[in-house]
Amino acid sequence: MSELPLPPVTRTLGHSGIAVSPIAWGMWRLAENGRTAGDAARLVHAAIDAGISFLDTADIYGFDGSGGFGDAEALLGEVLAAEPALRARMVLATKGGILPPLPYDQSADYLRKAINASLTRLKVDHVDLWQIHRPDILAHPQEVARVLDDAITSGKVRCLGVSNFTAAQIAALNHFLGHKLVSTQPEISPLRITCFENGELDQAMMLGLTPMAWSPLGGGLLTAPESARDKAVAAALDAVASAQGVSRTVAAYSWLMAHPAGIIPIIGSQNPERIAEGAAALTVRWTRQDWYAVLVAARGERLP
Ligand code: NAP
Repeated sequence: MSELPLPPVTRTLGHSGIAVSPIAWGMWRLAENGRTAGDAARLVHAAIDAGISFLDTADIYGFDGSGGFGDAEALLGEVLAAEPALRARMVLATKGGILPPLPYDQSADYLRKAINASLTRLKVDHVDLWQIHRPDILAHPQEVARVLDDAITSGKVRCLGVSNFTAAQIAALNHFLGHKLVSTQPEISPLRITCFENGELDQAMMLGLTPMAWSPLGGGLLTAPESARDKAVAAALDAVASAQGVSRTVAAYSWLMAHPAGIIPIIGSQNPERIAEGAAALTVRWTRQDWYAVLVAARGERLP
């Protein structure tokens, strides 16, 4: 049976020319459990030392419903201040545009302030990728595009992406941007398969956007499946995992990476061994039959 190609050891972020690791590490949960800058540094090293040098954060990470806005960025800023040489070893992505309790603000004034505030917290002069976290329905894409283009021209941001945008919202923003989008970040996992059939990944391939998959383990649900559907998906992943001597989580990352759009899973673990283990996803081979078996388990019905 023919096998799907292995993922490349590096990918290019959209049309930017920026080389990134084919797996990313996310810092949504970094500022939890009283983590210190020393703890955060150990996690950053675990990722980079395993070849996972594409790092994803957001200004809202750390927010607990009442406070903590900016805490994950600030923690990474402390790590970078203590060890400045780390900056050149990572491709740094952050996001903004969620502003509790509004919930979203992408007015020109706010976006300018949000980008500057992220740079201050991260203690860097630029980020490599700046993403709109969730769409603000009240912001005209032409106004948003103007601010984002300015952020590129001023050197604060090297390239632009979006997250949780519909295909139409991506097309509208890209229409007005001079510096076109390079990435999109939807939720994708073996338990969250809508983008395989709703046109989002097709659009990503058409526009040359790199898809970054958030919650690639369904927020951890795949490690402790609950429903009959979760368990069927886990079993389909386990079949490949046990045949190739990897864990179910590694099989899940590699299942996403086998898609032709070049999906980059964002590992969400804040455990150094689990982060490093993710790199094994580069070695897992999928056949069409095994890949579709996971999809069919997630659909809960056969394909036509
Ligand atoms: P995930 O990989 O689906 O889930 C990670 C969770 O699973 C962690 O709590 C982790 O706990 C747990 N887990 C349990 N067993 C594990 C194992 N064997 N291996 C790995 N993890 C295990 O990802 P996520 O944290 O939900 O999201 C990943 C990243 O996506 C975030 O950090 C963020 O960058 C991005 N994200 C973006 C958005 C958006 O709107 N754009 C939304 C959510 C997330 P331990 O830490 O104890 O390992």
